[in-house]
Amino acid sequence: MPLSVQLKTPVTGEYTQPTGLWINNEWVEGVDKKTFEVINPATEEVLCSVSEATEKDVDIAVAAARKAFNGAWRTTTPHQRGKYMTKLADILEQNIDLLAAVESLDNGKSISMARGDVHAVIGCIRYYGGWADKIEGKTIDVDHESFHYTRPEPIGVCGQIIPWNFPLLMLSWKIGPALATGNTVVLKSAEQTPLSALVFANFVKEAGFPPGVLNIISGFGRVAGAAISAHMDVDKVAFTGSTPVGRAIMKAAASSNLKKVTLELGGKSPNIVFDDADIEQAISWVNFGIYFNHGQCCCAGSRVYVQEGIYDKFIAAFKKRAEQNSVGDPFDENTFQGPQVSKLQYDRIMGYIEAGKKEGATIETGGERHGDKGYFIKPTIFTNVTADMKIMREEIFGPVVAVAKFKTEEEVIHLGNDSSYGLAAAVHTKNINTALRVSNELRAGTVWVNCYNLINFQVAFGGYKESGIGRELGEAALANYTQNKSVSIRLGGALF
Ligand code: ADP
Repeated sequence: MPLSVQLKTPVTGEYTQPTGLWINNEWVEGVDKKTFEVINPATEEVLCSVSEATEKDVDIAVAAARKAFNGAWRTTTPHQRGKYMTKLADILEQNIDLLAAVESLDNGKSISMARGDVHAVIGCIRYYGGWADKIEGKTIDVDHESFHYTRPEPIGVCGQIIPWNFPLLMLSWKIGPALATGNTVVLKSAEQTPLSALVFANFVKEAGFPPGVLNIISGFGRVAGAAISAHMDVDKVAFTGSTPVGRAIMKAAASSNLKKVTLELGGKSPNIVFDDADIEQAISWVNFGIYFNHGQCCCAGSRVYVQEGIYDKFIAAFKKRAEQNSVGDPFDENTFQGPQVSKLQYDRIMGYIEAGKKEGATIETGGERHGDKGYFIKPTIFTNVTADMKIMREEIFGPVVAVAKFKTEEEVIHLGNDSSYGLAAAVHTKNINTALRVSNELRAGTVWVNCYNLINFQVAFGGYKESGIGRELGEAALANYTQNKSVSIRLGGALF
């Protein structure tokens, strides 16, 4: 199989799309020479085929990462690590249009949103490049006869498994803190969206990273993903994706070498609108909270609670707002919502819409396919949704929101926390006391006040309860990729 193909996008014209596995700073075919097809979700057509990594390829990539960890990367100074990362960010900056176009082509997200993602990717890599030479330990004063210090040391070879909803962004969240702290990486992209990570891989060598430091492979979860999670020479696995897969990864880690595990999983985040909120602003954020990225966000504001005083007014205006979201061609600059990523996701979401109807919720708008080609779904609002309904309890991961009415602050805190998830939440109110009281009570890793989806690479992100383990972004993510070594030195004579 050739290791690249020529593809076309309306933004770039023809470009060279790598299709191999990126191992040891080289493009290679898989050992078994397997490939799989990549589908354009906007047209349902096959874009190309890429190499599929099997267990054997994971072994080769892990061996390359181990060699780099014990060799060239170990002797690379923290300052130099940071320089490679900032150089990589500079190269990415020169290729924003290409990266964004490939993301739109493969994932279906609108080109303007894809550009936003690429800017965030660059910011994230540059941010962690800045951390590389600021990873510091402590000295600890115990007594006059001894001296104690700590060293945050890299964990080793990190397996990283990412989802398809933000292919490049999730890659940057994963590799940023891992590389800054001196680890080496084997990253597997999602089988639905391998293309942008492969374009990205082309820049790794150019930025100067030694061979084996960052290996990027395409492949299926049950094959390559499972091989990473169960590998005896992978020291840590980091995963973003669904809660059931997170459980499987944790089990595989437990029953292999007890590798360290961090998980960023699903959510069913409450978005709470009080009577005293700025209603127009609140509607904009609620709309953005659920429909951004076509509802394919782990932190999507998919449960909306509106206080009874403004409920009717809110629903009428929200319906109007949702119907104005432009759904269509990802390469149209005005598009807000593109297709869902795959047929499987499309079918799952339509299944939830059917469940909502059957359970007696009311469809205010949407609830059906948009157009006749591609995996498009109209922005959908369900009202009269009760706490026990499937659409109020389960993560739909699509442009479908469940809305319910509430009376009191106490009641809505209870409703907001009535979930096995705890990734994010939001409160809309003009009263600072209400905002702070409710934020403190909500059991979620992120609470937004009078906004939604404000995710910044400087600010930690991650889940309470079944939404995950560990934190990504910010200084907090460094802890996921370092382990503490304590060194104790005796200064005085013999103790006994
Ligand atoms: P979704 O259900 O939304 O597609 P998943 O959680 O299944 O999301 O997938 C996210 C990532 O996890 C993908 O890279 C996928 O290949 C990987 N994955 C899926 N199943 C497993 C598994 N059993 N072990 C390891 N990785 C997996």
